[in-house]
Amino acid sequence: MVGTTLACALGKNTKLANKTILLLEGSKQFQWEPKEQYSNRVVALNLNTKSLLSSIGAWNHIAAVRYGSVKSMQVWDAVSDAMIQFNQDDYLDNVAYIVENDLLLHSVNRELAHVQNVNVLYQAIVDSLKLPDVNSDTSKVLLENGKSFTCDLLLGCDGANSKVRKTMGVQYLSWNYNQMAVVATLKLAENVDDDHNTVAWQRFLPDGPIALLPLRKNLSSLVWTTTPNNAKTLLSLPEEQFVDEVNSAIWKEYPKRSIVSDVMKGFDRFLEILRLPSNAVRQLPPNVSGIEEGSRAAFPLGFGHATKYFKPGVALVGDAAHRVHPLAGQGVNLGFGDVSCLNEILGDAIYCGSVIEDVDNLRKYETERQRHNIPTMLAIDGIQKLYNTNLTPVVLLRSVGLQFTNALYPLKVTKKLYFINVYWYPSNRGI
Ligand SMILES: Cc1cc2nc3c(=O)[nH]c(=O)nc-3n(C[C@H](O)[C@H](O)[C@H](O)COP(=O)(O)OP(=O)(O)OC[C@H]3O[C@@H](n4cnc5c(N)ncnc54)[C@H](O)[C@@H]3O)c2cc1C
Repeated sequence: MVGTTLACALGKNTKLANKTILLLEGSKQFQWEPKEQYSNRVVALNLNTKSLLSSIGAWNHIAAVRYGSVKSMQVWDAVSDAMIQFNQDDYLDNVAYIVENDLLLHSVNRELAHVQNVNVLYQAIVDSLKLPDVNSDTSKVLLENGKSFTCDLLLGCDGANSKVRKTMGVQYLSWNYNQMAVVATLKLAENVDDDHNTVAWQRFLPDGPIALLPLRKNLSSLVWTTTPNNAKTLLSLPEEQFVDEVNSAIWKEYPKRSIVSDVMKGFDRFLEILRLPSNAVRQLPPNVSGIEEGSRAAFPLGFGHATKYFKPGVALVGDAAHRVHPLAGQGVNLGFGDVSCLNEILGDAIYCGSVIEDVDNLRKYETERQRHNIPTMLAIDGIQKLYNTNLTPVVLLRSVGLQFTNALYPLKVTKKLYFINVYWYPSNRGI
């Protein structure tokens, strides 16, 4: 998704019109046919990503087919009463859009087909790379089929196992979460019309969060983080039993610690005194009645971050540079953020008479993106760790934190959800 979008954005950038772009894709040429059944691989896209996809013309193709609208979102803790909600009212647009990975790629490919200065080679598996050194200013890419290419700037968008990153030899900080994400397409029991399945639900269970992302009437996409053993069991269960497990994960009552409940009640009263919204308007999640046949799958989860995103003549983009836990639905959004940033920096550089491989531009890209990516990644990893324990003081801390964040209306709207920089300014809630 990231590499194809980057090629399309660079190819459509008029400031880069005299550059030739070659996209090397290891897999077969991607063919997409409209199907009634939804794919089990979807991503929640934020508004910046929607703007990027609109700017290259791909969003129109997505909108003409289908997407799920997230108009509100409820996130809650299974072992306490803490909860946070996001509503469309807080934003000018939807909170997020749920799009199938395949449809997104197909939509970008449709635009890419009309871009004159981009060539795409499929089944072009990169075997080895030679990066610029004292003897050469260009990178050389050797494919498994024996073909080779040289370029002034090599952009590695080759995913979490990036060969480009490994060849660059940059430090890569990584760990596995020892968790798997089980995905499936769920049928919802409630007979809601299209407008009503617009809530994204996420419940933090002791083993990891379970999330339901709306696709359309009565259909949602499941992302359930759990232990590898449980994931294996969930994949092997008969479908009816799997549905029971999903309902139990959404609805099961966990024992609540009295100290946490007491502090939460006291905290609610404190919020009321401050005239901040307390824990009053909890919505009930839907019941699941079935799953789309064959839609179950599981993916290992990990964290990874390259300490450097560039070296002379080469840069990393998307999961090749950074990999996050899907609990906040940010992975590919970070990658698309890289795309927007790099496209702008390279366009401006060429417009100002610079060369495409100029390291100052690549450094600027790295600085801008790391300023954004690192805090986001640390916040996501912090939340994973905060919710991966049942220690009472931690449950207490996170519950009060979540409730407090929910109460701070301006904090949510500025999307500084995970950073409690307490600042007060007048709002329509009387603070
Ligand atoms: C369960 C789950 C749910 C997720 N949900 C969300 C979400 O809601 N929102 C969100 O923003 N993110 C989400 N993500 C993260 C998102 O899926 C990834 O961030 C995204 O797929 C990364 O895209 P990419 O293009 O950078 O890398 P990849 O998708 O890994 O693509 C890498 C590309 O490089 C090619 N390639 C690799 N090696 C070679 C080679 N040697 N030669 C040639 N080509 C090669 C591959 O064929 C592929 O096309 C989720 C992830 C998971 C696992």
